[in-house]
Amino acid sequence: MKAAEIRSTFLHFFESKGHTIVSSSPVIPGDDPTLLFTNAGMNQFKDVFLGFDKRPYSRATTSQKCIRAGGKHNDLDNVGYTARHHTFFEMLGNFSFGDYFKKDAIAYAWELLTVHFKLPKDKLWATVYAEDDEAYDIWLKDIGLPAERIVRIGDNKGGRYMSDNFWMMGDTGPCGPCSEIFYDHGPEVAGGPPGSPEQDGDRYIEIWNNVFMQFNRTDDGVMHPLPKPSVDTGMGLERLAAVLQHVHSNYEIDLFAQLLAAAKGAVEASGGTDVDPASPSLKVIADHIRACTFTIVDGVIPGNEGRGYVLRRIARRAIRHGYKLGARKPFFYTLVAPLAAVMGEAYPELKRDADRATAVLKAEEERFFQTIQHGMEILEAALAGGTQQIDGDTAFKLHDTFGFPVDLTGDVCRERGVTVDEVGFNAAMNRQREQARASAKFKMAAGLAYEGTPTTFHGYEHLVCETSKVTALYVD
Ligand code: ATP
Ligand code: MG
Ligand code: MG
Ligand code: MG
Repeated sequence: MKAAEIRSTFLHFFESKGHTIVSSSPVIPGDDPTLLFTNAGMNQFKDVFLGFDKRPYSRATTSQKCIRAGGKHNDLDNVGYTARHHTFFEMLGNFSFGDYFKKDAIAYAWELLTVHFKLPKDKLWATVYAEDDEAYDIWLKDIGLPAERIVRIGDNKGGRYMSDNFWMMGDTGPCGPCSEIFYDHGPEVAGGPPGSPEQDGDRYIEIWNNVFMQFNRTDDGVMHPLPKPSVDTGMGLERLAAVLQHVHSNYEIDLFAQLLAAAKGAVEASGGTDVDPASPSLKVIADHIRACTFTIVDGVIPGNEGRGYVLRRIARRAIRHGYKLGARKPFFYTLVAPLAAVMGEAYPELKRDADRATAVLKAEEERFFQTIQHGMEILEAALAGGTQQIDGDTAFKLHDTFGFPVDLTGDVCRERGVTVDEVGFNAAMNRQREQARASAKFKMAAGLAYEGTPTTFHGYEHLVCETSKVTALYVD
């Protein structure tokens, strides 16, 4: 079953259960400054769940464009390393706004997976929040899932309600337990069952999260039962497609086949020879062209702070992977057209805006190609001789003079098992800021030409929180 058919089967299944099909919102959240990018289907319904917004429906279903490359959810560093994470992906979801709850949500999910998608029941596992006996019993008694494949997940992250199976919108507000459905890709893939220490492999893949918004948490930490509990679910389209297309990696599904071939062709046309079609760098490039193009189409341009800087970092990482494969001139921008060909049907904005996205990426790429070679030579020289850590001054010089975002330097280093000196990098950054400030003061005091107010560079304050998971360079 092709991804397009999976998407429409999902939406029409929930439509048949009384849900209104709602379009994806942009990847840039409209009026939510707390959120860098849309990272889940529920984002566009946040105010509906909070009761601030009313809709003409109490059940909805969507296929939502999501980006997880910054902020709370950051999968940038997983790309190329796991078979299941993207920076851009589509999240299929169904939502109940004070309408149905756990029993129906689980029954719908089970019916869709086992009857309509015909997944073998014995390959499915479910997790529930440790204290959620209600969900546990629904799986055991109503659905008939054997107890061996229902896993209770407790507060394993240190602290009450800090569990993969307890969802909170923030420190206060709606929250509740969730139940996740996993698919077992079989013993030929490495990884352990949910809840086990070996879980972090690609064998048992989390495909669907069902969140039960059951409480309102107040400042004092008390959980008040909501009068009308709600449901919010999310399933990764690419993960489900891998299962249904009998492959073990998201990168082997139909949506990626053409894109990977196009990436190989583009790199080879720009200097690479005989690129290995299985190279992880091609996967990174194919992943990143999706994130970059959707981000540009929805209104971001590469820049030095906030969303623009995340976009720049993703684009430059992709370019560096192409460079690693031998590309010596711009190639990345040529992938917008093949992407629009593959996904333009589902997301017409891609076709509409392909030319502009191509031009924006081309300009960014031309700029980075002016410095990448020299920067890579400096980095290679620093890596030569078996160092275990790149010093902060070198990382800063690469950033400041050669346009290497520090996570890009970290990405190169990680391939060699080397780390980057985070403290030293930040110190070098601060030194430069201090110097800039002092020199601005001096110019003003001396009455030298100085126009306007001094600007403060905020790029790194943003970066510090955005890359927390990326390179483990920063604390969360
Ligand atoms: P994981 O534990 O695998 O990182 P998650 O628990 O962070 O996933 P949720 O926030 O529960 O994911 O999102 C709901 C669903 O979206 C997941 O069950 C999965 O199918 C899908 N998903 C999440 N992150 C990604 C990603 N980076 N790329 C592709 N699909 C994803
Ligand atoms: Mg995750
Ligand atoms: Mg998870
Ligand atoms: Mg999850």
